[in-house]
Amino acid sequence: MATTLSPRYQTTPVRIAHVTVGGGAPVVVQSMTNTDTADTDSTAAQIVALARAGSELVRVTVDRAEAAAAVPHIRDRVRAEGVDAPIVGDFHYNGHTLLADHPACAEALDKYRINPGNVGFKDKRDRQFSSIIELALKHGKPVRIGVNWGSLDQELLTGLMDENARRDKPLGAQGVVHEAMVQSALRSAARAQEIGLGADRIILSAKVSAVQDLVSVYTMLAERCTYALHLGLTEAGMGAKGVVSSTAALAILLQQGIGDTIRCSLTPQPGGDRAEEVRVSQEVLQTLGLRSFAPVVAACPGCGRTTSTVFQELAQDIQAFIRDQMPQWRTRYPGVETLNVAVMGCIVNGPGESKFADIGISLPGTGEAPAAPVFVDGKKTVTLRGPEIAAEFKALVEDYIETRFGAGGRERPAAE
Ligand code: SF4
Repeated sequence: MATTLSPRYQTTPVRIAHVTVGGGAPVVVQSMTNTDTADTDSTAAQIVALARAGSELVRVTVDRAEAAAAVPHIRDRVRAEGVDAPIVGDFHYNGHTLLADHPACAEALDKYRINPGNVGFKDKRDRQFSSIIELALKHGKPVRIGVNWGSLDQELLTGLMDENARRDKPLGAQGVVHEAMVQSALRSAARAQEIGLGADRIILSAKVSAVQDLVSVYTMLAERCTYALHLGLTEAGMGAKGVVSSTAALAILLQQGIGDTIRCSLTPQPGGDRAEEVRVSQEVLQTLGLRSFAPVVAACPGCGRTTSTVFQELAQDIQAFIRDQMPQWRTRYPGVETLNVAVMGCIVNGPGESKFADIGISLPGTGEAPAAPVFVDGKKTVTLRGPEIAAEFKALVEDYIETRFGAGGRERPAAE
C-alpha cells in the first residue's frame, strides 16, 4: 500500500482560546449542544456535561437575539463550573446582525462558525460575509467556514454546472457538487484573507451525509489548501447506523492524515445522552491509535462456552467503573489512559489475551473449574474464586494503577 504524506502536519495551526487545531496538534474532539441557546440554564448545563465527557470545543446555535443575549451568561456559568472548553457560536442567515448588535456575545464566543451558503444572496451575501469577518477581526476570533451540501451556494453550483456542460468530457453531477463544495470553502477563505483574517484564524469544513462523498470532498480540500480541517459526516443518523457511518468516514480520512478536529453528528435517542457523540469521537481516535482518552477494556465476544452472563456483567461493570473513575484518575494518575485491561470468557483465548493486557482476568467457561486467574504484566499473580470476583478484580485494577501511575509509581519517578 502506498504511503501517504500526512496533510495534517501541513495545515496551518489555529488557536481557539487555549486549544490548538491543526499543524500536527492532536486531533481535537468537538460537539454541539441541542438545547435552545436562549435557555441559559439548560445550555450551560449541557456544555458542562459535554466538556466533562471530553469535548474540547463545544458549539452552540446562535439563531436569534435572545440566544445571542444569553451567550455571555452561558459562558460565565460554564466557567464558574471550572469548565474551560472554548465555546463556538453557530450562525446562519443573520450572523452579521447578531454579532454586531450583541458585542458581548461576539466577545464571549471563542470562535464563529459561518456557512457561506447561508449568509445571504448575491451582493448581500458578500456584504454580510464581509461583516462577519470584520467582526471576527475586531474581536480577535477565529472562524470556521463550514460548507454543507444541504445549503450549498446555488449560484456557484449553477455556474459550475453550466461550465461543466460546455466541457468536452463533462463530470457527473456528483463530481460538480463536490467541486462546488470545495470551491465554496476555498473562495470564502480567500475572501476572508483579503479582508485581513489570517490563515491561522481559518478552519474549513465541507460536510456531506454519504461516506464516499465526504472522502472525495475532503481529499480534494486537503490537496488544494493548507487550512486546518474540521471533519464530520453531517446527519449521520441514529444508533449503530450513525456510529458506523461516522466511524467509516472519519477513519478513512484520519488514516490519511486528513482532519484536525472531528465531530460525530449522531442523533440521540429521545431522552438519550448527548455526550454519546463525544465518546464515539474519542473511541474513533483511540481505536486508530491517534489519541488515548481512557483505558481500553478488551472483552471477548462470548460464545457457546459462556452460557452464563457472568463475564458480560463483569466486562460491563469494569467498563463503567473505569469511566466513572476517569475524571479523578486523569489528574491523580497521569498516563492512566494508556492502560489495557482484558476481561475474557474462558480458557481458549482468556489466558493468552489476558497476558497481553496490562491486567487481565480469564473467567471460567462452561464446565471449567470455577476459578479466574488474573494476569498482571503478562504473569499470573492470583486466582479469584467465589461471588466477589468483580469487586476483587476492580480492587486489583486500582492497586495496579496506583503502583504504576500513582505518585512514586514506576511511571512517576520521585523527582517528578
Ligand atoms: S475466549 Fe472463550 S468464551 Fe470468549 S469467545 Fe473465545 S472461546 Fe468464547
